Amino acid sequence: MSYPSSHAGKVWLVGAGPGDPDLLTLRAARLIMRARLIVHDGLVDPAILALARPEAKLISVAKRRSRHTMPQEEINALLVREALAGSEVVRLKGGDPFIFGRGGEEAEACHAAGVAVEVVPGISAAIGAAAAAQMPLTHRRSASIVSFVAGQCKGLSEQNWAGLTGQGRTLVIYMGLATAEAIADKLIEDGLAPDMPVAVVENATRPQMRVLRGPLAGLPDLVAREKVKSPAIIIIGEVTAEPEIEQLRALALEAAE
Ligand code: SAH
Repeated sequence: MSYPSSHAGKVWLVGAGPGDPDLLTLRAARLIMRARLIVHDGLVDPAILALARPEAKLISVAKRRSRHTMPQEEINALLVREALAGSEVVRLKGGDPFIFGRGGEEAEACHAAGVAVEVVPGISAAIGAAAAAQMPLTHRRSASIVSFVAGQCKGLSEQNWAGLTGQGRTLVIYMGLATAEAIADKLIEDGLAPDMPVAVVENATRPQMRVLRGPLAGLPDLVAREKVKSPAIIIIGEVTAEPEIEQLRALALEAAE
């Protein structure tokens, strides 16, 4: 690991974590605080961008569902162009760059152009949400398999999620808000119990975080009724309703009063 120097251009693909700046790695924080050029997603929390030097140049390539401000090819080209011109580019991405972050494509574009790349991992939304909501993704009692899926992929209905849910399994769905209804239908059709517990964690690790729970069959209604907004993650499985953890938390809250 080396930090920006003045000669060769380079791209750092940096995970910014799920929101709370305290969840940045030290390496990410150091890179952000030293950067001259930061290219960031819409998901990166303003509190994290505020760590940048006042004179740093910040370029937003914010992506919103079906309203891409900059197509991926242009983002790749921007990173390559800046690095070849000698810039040290901090490419800051929500969560972890290699979990549904298209970091793989950006790294490939850099490699193809002969640009050096380093990757700094970040806390992915699933991990941040689990911690903030005190919802273990695995638990000796209830889950020993956990899967991360993208709920917004093309051809959702053709995807094979068999085996990812059910007893002993936790399914974490990224980008699943808009397709919540299709997801619930698909899983129930595949044989998952309609009363399988589900949690939706909106704005995980941020001050405005909400944790909503209910049965799988009620997921679309829950999302609509509570007007859940992006970013939110859907967690399906027994771990979202671990009774002992609930009780312990209630007891701890009582004791604190
Ligand atoms: N690379 C990111 C994921 C990018 S995909 C990561 O590792 O976390 C974007 C999706 O991530 C969002 O649609 C949402 O499902 C999820 N997400 C990101 N930040 C989140 C947050 N703070 N709370 C809940 N979900 C979040």
